[in-house]
This record gives sequence, structure tokens and C-alpha cells, in this order.
Amino acid sequence: MKKLTAGLVLWAGLGIAFIGVVPSGLAQTKVTSVEGITEYRLDNGLKVLLFPDNSKPTVTVNVTYLVGSRHEGYGESGMAHLLEHMLFKGTTKREGIMPELTNHGAQFNATTSLDRTNYFETLTAGDENLRWALDMEADRMVNSRVSRKDLDTEMTVVRNEFERGENNPGRVLEERVVATAYLWHNYGRSTIGARSDIEKVPIASGCRLFTGATINPITRC
Ligand SMILES: [Zn+2]
Repeated sequence: MKKLTAGLVLWAGLGIAFIGVVPSGLAQTKVTSVEGITEYRLDNGLKVLLFPDNSKPTVTVNVTYLVGSRHEGYGESGMAHLLEHMLFKGTTKREGIMPELTNHGAQFNATTSLDRTNYFETLTAGDENLRWALDMEADRMVNSRVSRKDLDTEMTVVRNEFERGENNPGRVLEERVVATAYLWHNYGRSTIGARSDIEKVPIASGCRLFTGATINPITRC
């Protein structure tokens, strides 16, 4: 089993002190600095890229997990993306991630690809917002609850994204070409997945996908 592999990128405005938000007791090592971006490594393996930009009054937290649709097993296509959607629902200590993001005035989104999944939010710069965003990201990756009810409501959104792709000739052609190029590798399967897999996903299967691959975000399903 691979180690947890994740990266965190901070675009910080107004001189946000990143060092100040690292929990005490968690050591960080400066790795390198290139063109204004400094890389740190925390002792839990997390790679942190700090990109200060004093011209902006905002702070952006962007967390990238090096796990994506290529880690899906047979009959599980589309599940990495589905799980990305589910991580906007509640956790054991939060009623709903989406309303909290809205209440904090955040611009936010998440994307899933073959090799990675990422989550980001941009908020008004300030220690409080930065702490909240980091805490929320950690919380939803460890304590998210994936319920059948949430899955059912989110399915409309995911099905809509699937059908948008089906109605796009360019996307359909790309799928066919890539499937031919990668006959025996998961790169040959689209991240959105097969309709039959998406609609029949058993919740336990979605959990296993990530526990068995690289990260272990869902411990309570
Ligand atoms: Zn989506």
C-alpha cells in the first residue's frame, strides 16, 4: 500500500504568515524556493507550497491528493469523481461543507482527473479564514459521512455532468481515441465513468476505492 500522498498549495495575500497556522508539534522543513514559491515538507509527509502574493487581498487553499480515476477497480468507474462530490456534504462535526463555504464568502470548487483529485477555496485574506479552510479540508478528508441520501441527491448533478459529455462530439471522440491508445491501462477509461457503474455504486465500494488506493479519507462508512 502506498503512503499518503498529498500536497497543499497556498496562495496568500496580505502577508499571511503560513508558519503561524501550522499546528504546534508538527515540524516543517523547507525544501526549496523557486520564483517566489517555497516548498515545505511537514513531518507527516504533506508537501506544502506557499506562494505569497501581496497584490491580492485573498488567500487560496488548494489541496491536491495524488489519487484519481486510474485507481478505480472493475465496475467502479466514475467513483473517484463521485466521491469528490460527496466531500461537499457533511462530516461528523459539520452539517454541510457547501453552506459553510458559502457563509465564509468563499469561491470554491473541486476537480477529479486520472491521477489526482483537488479541492480549493479562495477567501478574504486573514488568519481566521486560513485556519478555517485548513481545518475544514482536514476534517472532510478524514471524517466525511457518505450516506445513501446524499448520494441519491448528488446523483442528479453527476448524471447531468455525464450527459453533458455524451452530448459533446469532441469529448466522445477523445474518449474513443484514449480508450484505443490505452487498451490495458486505466488511463483508457474516462474519469466520469460508465453510466451503469455510476448509477449502481454501492456506498461501501466508494469507500474501498480510496482506502485501498492511496489515501484514506472515509473512515466511517
Ligand atoms: Zn463533478
